Amino acid sequence: MAKPPITISCECGEKRDVAYGERWQCEKCGRSWNTAQIPAEEYEQLLRSVRRHKLEALVAAGVSAAILAPLIIFVSASFIALVPLAMVGWLVGFLPRWRRRYRRTARSAPRWQLYPE
Ligand SMILES: [Zn+2]
Repeated sequence: MAKPPITISCECGEKRDVAYGERWQCEKCGRSWNTAQIPAEEYEQLLRSVRRHKLEALVAAGVSAAILAPLIIFVSASFIALVPLAMVGWLVGFLPRWRRRYRRTARSAPRWQLYPE
């Protein structure tokens, strides 16, 4: 699973998304930034909340499939007509709410003050 990148804003105004643990040397001013300065447990916390959100989406998709698939296979193929309905419900009901909460988590992500090396 992709880890959320850390956005470094250089003092000269340059910005760059860097993976945790990597360093970046600004092309403009030559300052060197090291994301390893971020405490590992704080980054882990961020990872956990991102993972929880992704898991929620997976579980919701899995539950709908677990309900629909046996109906189609064992009860009646006409239940397949419910699939588009379930997808609409997913797109209209679940996704927007999920995205909103995901964005809120992303916004409340901690900001760290790094020091150029
Ligand atoms: Zn710079």
